[in-house]
Amino acid sequence: MEFRFSNRLNKLPPYLFLEIDAARRKAIKEGRAIIDLGVGDPDEGSPKEVVETLCKAVQDSRNLHYPLDQGIPALRNRIAAWYKDRFGVTLEPAKEVLVLIGSKEGIAHTPLAFINPGDTSLVPDPCYPPYKGGTILAGGNIYPMPLLEENNFLPDLNKIKNNVLKGSKILYISYPNNPTSAVCEKGFFEDVVIFAKRHDLIVVHDAAYSEIAFDGYRPPSFLKVDGAKDVGVEFHSVSKTCNMTGWRLGFVCGNERVVSGIAKVKSNIDSGVFTVIQLAGISALDIAERHSQGMNQVYQGRRDVLVDGLNAMGWTTRKPRATFYVWTRIPRGYKSSVEFAAMVLKKAGIVITPGIGFGESGEGYVRMALTISTERIEEAVDRLRKIL
Ligand SMILES: *Cc1c(COP(=O)(O)O)cnc(C)c1O
Repeated sequence: MEFRFSNRLNKLPPYLFLEIDAARRKAIKEGRAIIDLGVGDPDEGSPKEVVETLCKAVQDSRNLHYPLDQGIPALRNRIAAWYKDRFGVTLEPAKEVLVLIGSKEGIAHTPLAFINPGDTSLVPDPCYPPYKGGTILAGGNIYPMPLLEENNFLPDLNKIKNNVLKGSKILYISYPNNPTSAVCEKGFFEDVVIFAKRHDLIVVHDAAYSEIAFDGYRPPSFLKVDGAKDVGVEFHSVSKTCNMTGWRLGFVCGNERVVSGIAKVKSNIDSGVFTVIQLAGISALDIAERHSQGMNQVYQGRRDVLVDGLNAMGWTTRKPRATFYVWTRIPRGYKSSVEFAAMVLKKAGIVITPGIGFGESGEGYVRMALTISTERIEEAVDRLRKIL
């Protein structure tokens, strides 16, 4: 039987990383020693303390039942305390915090709570793919906001036409940014709050990389800005902060109405995060500060090796102040980011991500992830030098 997919499923673009993964797997099958700068998945293990909490908690049968949809109170309280310490933002744990099965899950489910067919999400271009995927699955339209280098990869909100704004419901932003690794100052968030109030927009700020930053830089919280809680929410990823990508733990906080809408969607789809993982999440937040300091030193060292290496061969790559990505223009003489990435995989056995995969304005750029050892990054620089 050839069952037909729903229209909404047919409208989804192919998931970028699956295609890159297929090309990588093929190369490995051919017996080549691949260096993977593709997917950003922390390579160092999960923190020991967190694993220990998990092992203990799983032996208590009380932790093995259906979890509470919203997240256990102890974790929601811990999240609120972490927010206070880290950002100076006060949150009401019972109403303004929701635990997620990874932040991706919540980001993708948000449009189901607020987008009607025909409504529009304003989405950065290039961007993390679920902003678009979640909107399309809810029947909504995408309006891409170009992130251009000459604007420091911030969207130019004043360029969005009034007729677009009339049909728009959600504004997605994310700083520190994936894939451009750009950061923003508080002033940008202040502009966003004013803009969102004027045009009745829900602001979704994805702060997955808030704890991964270098040279002493500390990314601010959107929620710290006056009035932010009136218009928006902020997503965090325990996966990215504490090397726990496989564990699936994230959270969203901020505007009570938005949080409750996402919670309502989720209560019809999943039954919450495994209690054992939530208890481990408390341990993760306990050590997040120390853990991040250590990891950031590691990423910063790798960043320097990669960017200094590229620039020594004539690239003009900027050193990112945050995230574990390097976003850089492809060298002259290549027609597209896909052509360049395919050539690098074929000739040097290095996986890099073509910028076009994140949106049209990503064309001309590639993304390289710093989630492999310094030695492998040195090897990658060597290989690139030989083929370019
Ligand atoms: C990785 C990533 C996430 C999601 O991480 P989870 O593992 O689902 O918490 C969210 N946003 C961005 C921009 C990311 O790169």
